[in-house]
Parts: sequence; C-alpha cells; structure tokens
Amino acid sequence: MKQDGLPVISSIPTKRKVVFLTIDDGWEQDPGFARIVRERRIPITVFATRDAVEAEDLPDGEPGWKYVGAGGWPYFKNLGVAIENHTLTHPDLRTLSPEAQKAEICGASKAIGRHIGRAPELFRPPFGSWNPATLTAAGKCGLRAVVLWTASVQSDAKIAYQVEDKRLRPGDILLLHFRPPLEKDFAKLVRKIEKRGFTFGDLGAYMDELLPPQ
Ligand SMILES: [Zn+2]
Repeated sequence: MKQDGLPVISSIPTKRKVVFLTIDDGWEQDPGFARIVRERRIPITVFATRDAVEAEDLPDGEPGWKYVGAGGWPYFKNLGVAIENHTLTHPDLRTLSPEAQKAEICGASKAIGRHIGRAPELFRPPFGSWNPATLTAAGKCGLRAVVLWTASVQSDAKIAYQVEDKRLRPGDILLLHFRPPLEKDFAKLVRKIEKRGFTFGDLGAYMDELLPPQ
C-alpha cells in the first residue's frame, strides 16, 4: 500500500517459507533472550521505544518483571540486529499534531543513531495507530517504510491470528513484546515455527528488495 510516498506494510510478498519476527518497546531486557538471538543468529527486528529502553523502574504493579533497565542501549546494540523506530514515549500518534508526531519520530531516530550507531530505516507506530501526518513525519525523519504486522504473539508463544484457518503464511510479520518470561516464551515460539517448516527472514534485507533505492 502506497500512502503519501511512504509504504505501509503488514506482510512481505514472498513464496519462500519465511516469517519475520519483530519485537517492540524494550522493557524486559532479558539476557537469556539475547543469548538465543545471538547464538542462533535469528534475524529479529527490534522496534525500540526510548522510554522503555531507558526505563529504570518496573511498569506499575505487574508481577514477573526482572530485567527492566538491566541493560539499556548496550543491551540492544549487543543483540546484533536492526534496531528500528517506535517513538520516544509511545503515544497514540493520531492524537498528536503533525509537529508533535515529527518530534516523537525524529527524536527516536536521533537517539537510536546516537546509541546504536546506525540510523533506523523502518517505523512502527505505537498501537498500530497512524494517520497521513504520521507518514509525512516519518518520511521527513529519514524513514523508508511503516511496518505493521500480520499476527501478534501472546504469552506462552500463543499466536493470535487474524485469519480463520490459524495458519502461518509465507511473509507473515509477527509482533512480539519485551515482556516476561521472554527467554522461555521466545524459545518456545522459535521451536513452534520451525516445527511448521518455516525459517526466519531478515526483514531489512527483504525490505531492501521491496523498496526503491534511496
Ligand atoms: Zn509498542
């Protein structure tokens, strides 16, 4: 889908049996999860929110969180995967003026560039909520595409499909979150997907094929 110059995608057109793992926000900085990603070289894409990455306290009243603020930006850099843009403070962008949207998006790109050493190319709006001003702002901040998702992954690696037959399809983009128990749930999800004969695609590489050169 082409919108105001910036494409908005929620799956990748491909016949290969690959799915794409994307993981949002950045609250639970679980070293066990990082180990699996590094050792298995699973090409996840992180959509980082600055306030989650830099948080020092637990989210209010929720049990089970162990690694909030445990690693900060170096944790994400050491994952060795693409760290993409998910705003500074995780607002519903549709409630913000065009200027405020631009501040959220450009600010996050700057923070990521500074801490990770690579400027983001992809943008995911919090809650999947966006309007035309979002696309204009993201374009002005140097981003190339807005990436939504095909299905979200709940606790215990349960995949919440939006399709009746509850099957993975080639090119599906799955949405995960940095929340406990991240290592356990992630390992289970990887096994589940591999059992179905799928491998994990590198979203950035597929996007390079999909998007016109800059
Ligand atoms: Zn989010």
